[in-house]
This record gives sequence, C-alpha cells and structure tokens, in this order.
Amino acid sequence: MRTKLRRAAKIARSGLRRYPRELINSLAVSGRPPSVPSGSLSVDPALMRLVSHDLGAVWLGHASVLARIGGLNVLSDPVFSERVGLTVGGITFGIQRMAPLPFPERALPPIDVILLTHAHFDHFDVPTLRRLASPHTTVVTATKTARLVPKGFGRVIELDWTTELDLGGVRVRAVRPAHWGARFAYDRHRGFNSYLLEAANARVLFAGDTAHTDVFGKLGPVDLAVFGIGAYEPWIHHHANPEQVWEMFTDLGGEHLLPMHHSTFRLGEEHPDEPIQRLLAAAGEHRHRVVGTRMGEVWLHGERATEPKSPSGEAAQGDAADEHTPARRRPGVSELTV
Ligand SMILES: [Zn+2]
Ligand SMILES: [Zn+2]
Repeated sequence: MRTKLRRAAKIARSGLRRYPRELINSLAVSGRPPSVPSGSLSVDPALMRLVSHDLGAVWLGHASVLARIGGLNVLSDPVFSERVGLTVGGITFGIQRMAPLPFPERALPPIDVILLTHAHFDHFDVPTLRRLASPHTTVVTATKTARLVPKGFGRVIELDWTTELDLGGVRVRAVRPAHWGARFAYDRHRGFNSYLLEAANARVLFAGDTAHTDVFGKLGPVDLAVFGIGAYEPWIHHHANPEQVWEMFTDLGGEHLLPMHHSTFRLGEEHPDEPIQRLLAAAGEHRHRVVGTRMGEVWLHGERATEPKSPSGEAAQGDAADEHTPARRRPGVSELTV
C-alpha cells in the first residue's frame, strides 16, 4: 500500500513538473505539421528500395514505423505532427517533438495498411491520419476506436484479441499487451493492441506500448519485432524498460529488434539517450540484431543498413549506419525538453 502511494506521488510530481511548461509552449506554437516543402515530391530513393524489398523497415520517429512485409507497405501509429495532444481552435495542447521527421511526408510511398495500436495521443494523431487518408489504404485499429479515425480511408477495421484478418495474403492478429486504451479519463472501454503480421515468408510483431509481460513468448519466432523502449521512468507499469524489452524479445524468439518510442517526444523522466544505450548494453554481443536504431535508417532483411538522411535530403555525417550508435540529437533538443 505504501509502495503504491509512493509510486502515485512520484507520477503526480512528474506530471506537475512537466505540465505548466508544456501548456505555455502549446500556446506559443500551434500544432501544425513539421515544415513540408510545397509541391509534390517523389518517393525518397531509400524508401523506394525498402518497398521493393521482401522484408524491411524504417523508424520514422516515436512509434511510427514503415515496414514492408508480404508485398504490403505497412505503417504503424503514424504521428507526424509537431505537437501531439488535444487540438482546440487550431492550437494543439500537448507535447512537442524533439526531432524532425527523417523524410518529408510527401516522400513516403503509398501506404497499404495503417496499424493503430491504441488511442493514446502519441500513437493516434488525428491530424496526421487526416493527411494520410486514402481510399487505397486499410486502417486496422483497436476495438472502440474506429470512430476516432478520420474519413477518407478505404476500410477501417477494428480488431479484437480473438479474431484474425487476411489482408492480401498477410494475416493480421491482434494480441493483448500490458497497457490500456483510454484517450481521456472517461473512456477506458477502448481497446489496445499489439499486432502480429504473418506473410508466406516473414513474421513481424508490432508490440506497441506495453509493460513487461509474457504474452509475446507464445507468439514466436518472428523475423522482426518492433518494441517501445522509452518512457519507463516513472511509468514502468505501462512501458517496459530496455532490459525487459530485450527479455521479451528473446522469449519471443525474435531475430531482429527495431526499437522505438524514444528520442521523439519527452514522455518519461529518463534522458533521451538512455533507452537505446541500455538496450544495446542488454543485447551485449547480440547488439547486431538491434536494427534501424536511428530515424530514417532503412533496414533491409539480409542487407547492410543504409545511411539515414537529414530532412534536407543530405546523407547524415558520422558513423557507419551499422554501428548502432544512439539516436542522433538534433540541434535545439536540450532547449525543448522539460
Ligand atoms: Zn500508450
Ligand atoms: Zn506511447
């Protein structure tokens, strides 16, 4: 009981420290998307390589991952806005991103499937979804969340933990992570999913947000697992820490691990560089199995990773892409964090 009280006090202190500053910043900067060049762009060459491959993925920041599996372009939890939260009168009240998108939105390939794991604002961004809406795209989402999806998509399918879906030869199965689905305080009825995708020659897990759990151990093996590794301090009961993620990944029998949910929005108290450093330390001699650690670094199954690009289109300077250094900090990150 005393431990519970201490934890609640710690969480309340964390929110109180952060909230006033975020609120003031929200009023200063509207929730518009990051600067996107005007005019249409063609698909970025690195992303063209990805979507021409059998199996691959690229981290686009936070929980947004573009993956290629079974001939489909699959995008998880797309959040491309400058700020996430509630939008009122054109102003979004919420947290601001620390790092820009690695590619302009218009340089993304056509998306066949969008996977929405749950309705938390950092995963389910209505302005981004509105811009991505296309009759060619199928949205798969958790129960009681379809109504939040903007109009304009070909299909919006709610998937619960008992049914499976066949999307052009790729089976999609929802699994229950250790998390919750309420967008606000009063809507705890909403579902929350992890997704297992199975094609003829590949299996990929999108874990979404989860605390440590043994549910994934029964699903393996997979060629690629996408796990969140950040925002565990003091939210360890909602978000696993890097060591717990490595344990879940090995229990799953994963071959490659793509880490996300760090270095994009400041949600936890830990330093933005800490999650990836702790994950690589936990992986030890298996750190080569941790892939796509930097935003925009395209991982292709069976090939060396490509250099990530800066938003201006220039290749990033520095270490070889396969050396798995922590995510690069963008200018101004320290001023933006709270
Ligand atoms: Zn969440
Ligand atoms: Zn989250």
